[in-house]
Amino acid sequence: MKEKQTIQSLIDKIMTYSPESDLDMVRLAFNFADDAHRGQFRKSKEPYIVHPLAAAHILADMRIDPIIITATLLHDVPEDTHVTLKEIEDNFGSEIKNMVEGITKLGKLKYRGVERYIENLRKMFIAMAEDIRVMIIKFADRIHNLQTLDALPPQKRYRIALESLEIYAPIANRLGMAEMKGQLEDLAFRHVYPKEYERVKKLMDEKLRGKEKSLEGVENISKAELIKSNIEVIDLKGRSKRLYSFYKKLLRKENDITKVYDVIAIRVIVSNIADCYATLGILHNIWKPLKGRIKDYISQPKPNGYQSLHTTVFDDQGDLIEFQIRTLEMHDEAEYGVAAHWHYDERGSRLPAKEILWVKELAEIQKDILNKLSDLEEIKVDFLQSRIFVFTPKGDVIDLPEDATPVDFAYHIHTDIGKKCNGVRINEKMARLDTPLRNGDVVDIIVDKNRKGPNQDWLSFVKTHTAKNHIKNQQKSTRLTGWLKSVLPKK
Ligand code: MN
Repeated sequence: MKEKQTIQSLIDKIMTYSPESDLDMVRLAFNFADDAHRGQFRKSKEPYIVHPLAAAHILADMRIDPIIITATLLHDVPEDTHVTLKEIEDNFGSEIKNMVEGITKLGKLKYRGVERYIENLRKMFIAMAEDIRVMIIKFADRIHNLQTLDALPPQKRYRIALESLEIYAPIANRLGMAEMKGQLEDLAFRHVYPKEYERVKKLMDEKLRGKEKSLEGVENISKAELIKSNIEVIDLKGRSKRLYSFYKKLLRKENDITKVYDVIAIRVIVSNIADCYATLGILHNIWKPLKGRIKDYISQPKPNGYQSLHTTVFDDQGDLIEFQIRTLEMHDEAEYGVAAHWHYDERGSRLPAKEILWVKELAEIQKDILNKLSDLEEIKVDFLQSRIFVFTPKGDVIDLPEDATPVDFAYHIHTDIGKKCNGVRINEKMARLDTPLRNGDVVDIIVDKNRKGPNQDWLSFVKTHTAKNHIKNQQKSTRLTGWLKSVLPKK
């Protein structure tokens, strides 16, 4: 079992990445919460304080800003104890009080029917747009609740796990928080698809059985060779692919495990870009690379901004191992996404507008469309499903839901372009307006200035709410004007 988590071990963790921060404040928040929750217990019979402390540890492991960790320690105080938000503000200031208030407004895990559920989701989307840090606390809160889910009745377990898999993990993903997403998915997987979980876990165990020694060997040899070449190795660690993402990859590869090359990956973190390339050369000198699997995402980042060098090599046993080579900045960006920015900026910094734009859009749009459970599907498609990244002819990146079409693209750029769109060139070839777009496509919309409005048939293939909405509204107004014309006296 894990070591017992304490406030001291939390402080020690924070010291490793943010020694300058207000550690007294963190300690004070712990004592404050500990006092407030005294006499309360979790379903697991442990003292309540174990929960906020565990959530704080989850964030410290991800090197999250201590301000957020302080608020996390306090996150259940106003809802569960007699201590008020005012008292939190008096002791910790308005920034922390606002975050705690945001979490408190979202409410707890109680389920009171579909209507209340929808209402809670709406609140969450709004809170997220106001301060994305509230969502980061919510993720940590949820991860610990998932870790201790077995203390709850089965029905409740399933609901919480399902929500984590279908709403929380995709949001974490869109915020670029791969580590958060991965933990949420793997913890929820077992409860949502128990049979698949067992099957995939067995497959993974078989694949890894007896490999620990050789993996350790590869790690040691790599490290020694890099150090010999004067490369500063910040971290070098092997890890198996996460179960849920392994499961999804297997589904894409028709369950053929031999086609999954990254079951084991070794991450190498070095101090600068030149060392990334040098490392690649040194590793290839030791192990033979697999043809066609060397990827330079540093000079050509993935459309979502991901940077690293990837290569798959044969180890001495002939097994395939993937190396992922990156700098610490690239690593933080890839694993912690929006949360990584607080590492560099002084506190109080706002997020870059581009990253939060969709969050604001979601908060706006849910007012119109999130009224019943079936609307949730539309939100999921529009905001939470996997995204594709396509380009305008000028090279601007536009992200859209998977299988979005040129019409969705056109409406995303501007309503007028959507309305007057008359054709499309995809990668310089003429294509139909209902062609599903693919990652990396360059999309050039051809507009007809004289076009009156959208074609109602487009409704049968567009994917985004924006496009649908505009086309429908156009339909309404044309019907109305049509009807008005028909009833008006002819001149
Ligand atoms: Mn909580």
